[in-house]
Amino acid sequence: MTNKRHAPIEIDNEEFRKAGHKLIDTIADFLGTIQQKPVTTGETSKALQALLGMASLPADGTSPEHIIDKASALLLDHSLFNGHPKFFGYITSSPAPIGALADLLAAIVNPNVGAQVLSPMATQIELQTIQWLSEFIGVPSTYGGILVSGGNMANFTAFVTARTIKAPKKIKSGGIAEEDKLVVYCSKATHTWIEKAAVLFGLGSNAIHWVETSADNKMKVEALERMIQKDLQDGCRPIMVIGNAGDVSTGAVDDLQDLSAICKKYELWFHIDGAYGIPAAVLPELKDMFAGVDGADSIALDPHKWLYSPLEAGCTLVKDPNHLIETYSSHPVYYNFSSTVERTHNFYEYGFQNSRGFRALKVWMSLLQVGRNGYEQMIREDIELSKLMYALVDAHAELEAMTQSLSIATFRYVPANVKTIDNKEDYLNRLNESLLNELQQGGQVFLSNAVIGEKYCLRACIVNFRTSREDIEQVVQIIVAAGKKVHKALMEKPAINSQGA
Ligand SMILES: *Cc1c(COP(=O)(O)O)cnc(C)c1O
Repeated sequence: MTNKRHAPIEIDNEEFRKAGHKLIDTIADFLGTIQQKPVTTGETSKALQALLGMASLPADGTSPEHIIDKASALLLDHSLFNGHPKFFGYITSSPAPIGALADLLAAIVNPNVGAQVLSPMATQIELQTIQWLSEFIGVPSTYGGILVSGGNMANFTAFVTARTIKAPKKIKSGGIAEEDKLVVYCSKATHTWIEKAAVLFGLGSNAIHWVETSADNKMKVEALERMIQKDLQDGCRPIMVIGNAGDVSTGAVDDLQDLSAICKKYELWFHIDGAYGIPAAVLPELKDMFAGVDGADSIALDPHKWLYSPLEAGCTLVKDPNHLIETYSSHPVYYNFSSTVERTHNFYEYGFQNSRGFRALKVWMSLLQVGRNGYEQMIREDIELSKLMYALVDAHAELEAMTQSLSIATFRYVPANVKTIDNKEDYLNRLNESLLNELQQGGQVFLSNAVIGEKYCLRACIVNFRTSREDIEQVVQIIVAAGKKVHKALMEKPAINSQGA
């Protein structure tokens, strides 16, 4: 090593500029042509491994420009693109381009947003982002919170907080004992995070008391109250109720106001899982649907869903931010994070993580780029497109419309001659599952599935600012054409093609 160090990982300024410009040009070309690309290439893992090459770790390095070319080609020609206008799978949004630029900027400053002293401006931007998100969904700006990696983590962060506040105080030192009999309530429509949470955080899966849903996938409020009363009689300790603001399968929003009232009556923690749906609370026309949001003790929302942030960005909001500190704060001797000048805001005291990246920047920059009005427009249009999809499906002789709520429509393909087929429902389940596989591999459109009643359905969730009416019209035709093809194949060779029946 000479007096001046030149580390192998450093990139000289001019080289950085050149390589960076080239990468941005490549990305701009990609964005300009994304509509013409397949949604996915459907290649096998084996084929992808062959493309990667390189069996073992290289001993010596390669030039940045070369690596950027290689990585760009691998990713831009061999990925699934959720930014494609015909991607409607699961709940993964098209990423806001400004979010990608934000990630680049965030990475170069690299603030550690665990402590204010390590991230002075980033901490303030995250605080402002949290305040704006609260305003966005219509809760008072006194709510506080933290950005996390996604919906699961946002729900976990709230779940553990509810446990700390509502369980006997002794569990902070003694842990949970079986005789504590802690109980939480949620509907069958709740996302799988709840099962992970009950196992991970010591309550056990039996602590989840599942409440029945009505035909529209909403929790039955009277059933909830009956269960609470019975559990109290049986010596259990109910601690929280989880309401859905947009359930993951069908987009149903529970009666939040009623759930909030029950939680007040029985002194339970009221948590809303709004990972997908709660941004729609910004729409004045959906005010009634989301009434009661401000009764929540905590809320999970996912900017990487309906706010179009690139992965990953989730957010936990809590009515009393001190409850997060009570749950997560500790003060090791090796931290010098307080200040003699002012009260510091150290995010490591508000959640699971210690070192934390600057997720807030991409959310903050998107909110600034389009404002509340821009988001209202995009969310409203996504809902209109979903309704259009439902209407077109409903009008088509070979498609059966099932549900439509927020921006999720579910439906299935039903061939014209279905009446003549034995075990009709079994066959339709098999047919629609095969059809989904065919569509997911085909690359023209990407859908996912839902099971409604006992029926296997196709599911289109539109959290995609690139989708247009034309895409929806084309997708309906694509589904019917593929449906005919798969039906024909199944009728000809039922044994070979049957899967999961
Ligand atoms: C997506 C989703 C989750 C999980 O969120 P991730 O970001 O995938 O961790 C939880 N609940 C609901 C309602 C969701 O839609």
